[in-house]
Amino acid sequence: MSVVLQAWKDGLRPDPQIGVDEWRNKYRYLSESGASEHGKLDSNRTPYTIEIAEHLSPQSPTQQVFVCKGVQVAITELGNDFLFTYAHLYSRPMMGVLPTKPLLEDHVKSKVWSGVNASPVLKNEVFYPIKQGSTKTSSTLKMVMRKSGTTLNWRWAESKSTYASVTYGAILASDVDRWPDDVEGEGDPISLLQKRLDTFGIRKKFFCESSPTKRRNSKIYAESMYGDRNYYNMKCPTCAEYIKFSEENFVYEYDKESYELLSDVIYRCPHNDCIIKEYEKTEMMALENGAKWIPENPNFRNPLRKTYFLPSYYSPWKSWFDVFTEYLIALGEKEKYGKTKKIKVWYNTIDGSVYDDESEKEVQTTLDQLLQRREEYTKVPEDVVLLSAGVDTQGNRFEVSVYGWVNDRERYLIAHYIVTGDPKDPTTQKLLDDLLFKKLFECENGGAMKIFTSAIDTGGDKTQHVYNYVLRRYKNHRLFAVKGGKSIDDPIVKDFSIIKTKKNRPLKLYILGVNSAKDDIISDVEEQFGTRYIHFPHNIQKFYEGVVMEHDMSDEAFLNQFLQETKDEEGRWKNELKRRNEALDCAVYASAAVKCVKGLDLDKLAKLGKRAFYKR
Ligand SMILES: [Zn+2]
Repeated sequence: MSVVLQAWKDGLRPDPQIGVDEWRNKYRYLSESGASEHGKLDSNRTPYTIEIAEHLSPQSPTQQVFVCKGVQVAITELGNDFLFTYAHLYSRPMMGVLPTKPLLEDHVKSKVWSGVNASPVLKNEVFYPIKQGSTKTSSTLKMVMRKSGTTLNWRWAESKSTYASVTYGAILASDVDRWPDDVEGEGDPISLLQKRLDTFGIRKKFFCESSPTKRRNSKIYAESMYGDRNYYNMKCPTCAEYIKFSEENFVYEYDKESYELLSDVIYRCPHNDCIIKEYEKTEMMALENGAKWIPENPNFRNPLRKTYFLPSYYSPWKSWFDVFTEYLIALGEKEKYGKTKKIKVWYNTIDGSVYDDESEKEVQTTLDQLLQRREEYTKVPEDVVLLSAGVDTQGNRFEVSVYGWVNDRERYLIAHYIVTGDPKDPTTQKLLDDLLFKKLFECENGGAMKIFTSAIDTGGDKTQHVYNYVLRRYKNHRLFAVKGGKSIDDPIVKDFSIIKTKKNRPLKLYILGVNSAKDDIISDVEEQFGTRYIHFPHNIQKFYEGVVMEHDMSDEAFLNQFLQETKDEEGRWKNELKRRNEALDCAVYASAAVKCVKGLDLDKLAKLGKRAFYKR
């Protein structure tokens, strides 16, 4: 073998040093405050974590690991050990991300630093302590490694700076179902984080874990379904067939009135009805007794991505008795009082699964129906009288929905556009101009239409820039500045007020009755046919010349944005989970755009057969 080839092969050879599992058994001590147990860590207590730890090790080619989990299964601790191993032996810049600042600060204090202080190697050789007189010191959220001077940064998901263009070699993304969907308009935070690892190429490591939430919105569920989907399987002590713990095979008796457990909880082997008692669990789970992860989607095409499902039934710290006592309390609340909050939490945090209650099932059905009733039209349909546009202003883009109105209520969504760029930037504004004032929309029976009227949102932090944008254009175009109002029952457009902008020029600002507009739109979206109906096309998001195709959105994701809000007791629509809902806002503004035009009567135009064609 040539010298060059040998050198190249040596370079590819895995690092002879140890992996995450061996490292933690050798060096890791648990602090009294930070864990369910203290003293030297022994990963045989949680044998299901061993394979996951191996995939997180530099010796494994795996680049992404996702765990959809219940509570108390030692995955959070594994996340820390993952970073500690690299800090000790494979120095590289790293980041740990939790949902919010308070959650992060608590985690770093009670789990991370306490773990460092309890483990002599970490304390004396790996990290600088927080307070030290010399120039090299760590701070609470920035841990500096002694040998290399590189850092382990702790950040929270809600902060935009977490995603700034810094290079990392390993990232821990923790509790991701409590993360926002979109960080200040920059996009999906999980994808943004993964981009930060690109420089590390095949050596990069991304570890993402969480308990799930509801099906439509759960990040960890979606990410984990997209993978080889491993479940921990053990040999049944009686018949030796492989089984995994799942809710439907637990057996117990309970009082149907008080919902109290009346018996022990046992597991019934689904192959031969063998009875398994909880004390047998530890032995069954041990690797030497044949327990192993089995992928349920083994043909998944990306071998560098591993996904795991891990409910709390496997936890050494949570007895089945406790697990099902909690279940019965939640079940009682649901069956006796119709309250589903606790049962939802139980499924999410113990079963580690998504849970759809009745109302959520209805929403899912509506979404499925919306997807199914999409229609085949690419041009403006024959009976459309005119086009209006609703523009939502976001931190780094405009979102624009164009609707074709058949009458006062029935309309076709023609397309949705995402104009990427800072709204105050002239290039972004020029792109918006082209769309709103110049673009020709071909009609089905020949001819073309331009957008007849537009309304643009002035809320958020770009208010003055949007005012100026409108001021420079409204004389030549039907372009209206709008803002959501607080009234519950005002009509969508009641009146405008004249405001003075910063440059002391007067501007008409329409305060919208957003709540009643949403009443109409949400009921029209859910309508299956008739005159109060919104038609949707296939491939809703369209692109046009000059627009950066950065935000790619599926029809499902777009239609889901209509279904994120619920009504509170006063009758006010609320986006409680702060999910993306630009589709709904754009629909409100597109309706407002029509109402802002004085004397415009769509029903009358429709009856007269008048259509706003563009004369070339
Ligand atoms: Zn059996």
